[in-house]
Amino acid sequence: MCFDVNSKSLAKRYDISARIKSNKHVCLSFYEIIVEAPEMARSAQPGQFCMVSVPNSYLRRPLSIYKSGKNTLSFLYKIVGKGTEVLASLRPGDYIKVLGPLGASYPYKDIGAIPVLVAGGTGIASVHFLASKLKNKGVLFYGAKTKKELLCLSEFKKLGWKVFVATEDGSQGFKGFVTDLMKEKIKKDNIVYTCGPTPMMKKVIETVKDLKLKGYASLEEKMACGIGNCQGCAVKIGDEYKMVCKDGPVFSMDLL
Ligand SMILES: Cc1cc2nc3c(=O)[nH]c(=O)nc-3n(C[C@H](O)[C@H](O)[C@H](O)COP(=O)(O)OP(=O)(O)OC[C@H]3O[C@@H](n4cnc5c(N)ncnc54)[C@H](O)[C@@H]3O)c2cc1C
Repeated sequence: MCFDVNSKSLAKRYDISARIKSNKHVCLSFYEIIVEAPEMARSAQPGQFCMVSVPNSYLRRPLSIYKSGKNTLSFLYKIVGKGTEVLASLRPGDYIKVLGPLGASYPYKDIGAIPVLVAGGTGIASVHFLASKLKNKGVLFYGAKTKKELLCLSEFKKLGWKVFVATEDGSQGFKGFVTDLMKEKIKKDNIVYTCGPTPMMKKVIETVKDLKLKGYASLEEKMACGIGNCQGCAVKIGDEYKMVCKDGPVFSMDLL
């Protein structure tokens, strides 16, 4: 099924029963699931997400689009609760419902500046998709608790990105928070994109504002519908409430 989202973007979204092509363990509690979704794969933009069904659960779960192939979409997810645990148990040939692509993407065309990506945790998923689409290749700052949680570093390097890593336990790269590493290296001609844990993004936004740079952050909130109907993901931005699912998840840092 296909229907219009909003007149602003004229984008289309689809609600399909998608066949699982693969669902593989990546490392620790991280998995990558690939589903057959040709129309979505063609229209997916970096920063957008899908609402993915989980067997025996009423609510779908939001997952960022990690990669889009010719006929497939891929999601990188971490087991954090019941839904993602059940998702990890699904096998190739099983079907899940996928609604998407949803939400506002990162602006990435004709940006003119050198892009800096700051990612933590599963935030690497949407940042990876963005890195594959940006024409100018810049720098990725990537933070994790320990080196075992660092994902797809070689893929970023293959795409032509310079990668700086920070681990809290010092097992790889800079010892400490990725935000401190970024602060040391950021330049006046950078544009910044971030996705990751809220405390990390708050610090990134602070730095970007101090340096008067332009930046975009992808926010995360619990959401039930993903299309602005339930209003469960409302956040106060300035004096207004915005829906993370529909007005975001990507917001300009000027607003935050
Ligand atoms: C835009 C966006 C993109 C994301 N991208 C990724 C990604 O790429 N990879 C990744 O690993 N994670 C991502 N997440 C987080 C991911 O959605 C959660 O980790 C996942 O939903 C957890 O589900 P769970 O059942 O395993 O965990 P739990 O914490 O056990 O479940 C969350 C519970 O909250 C319930 N819930 C959700 N929304 C509501 C609501 N509005 N009201 C009431 N209950 C609710 C769910 O039904 C579920 O029961 C993203 C989140 C957002 C908002």
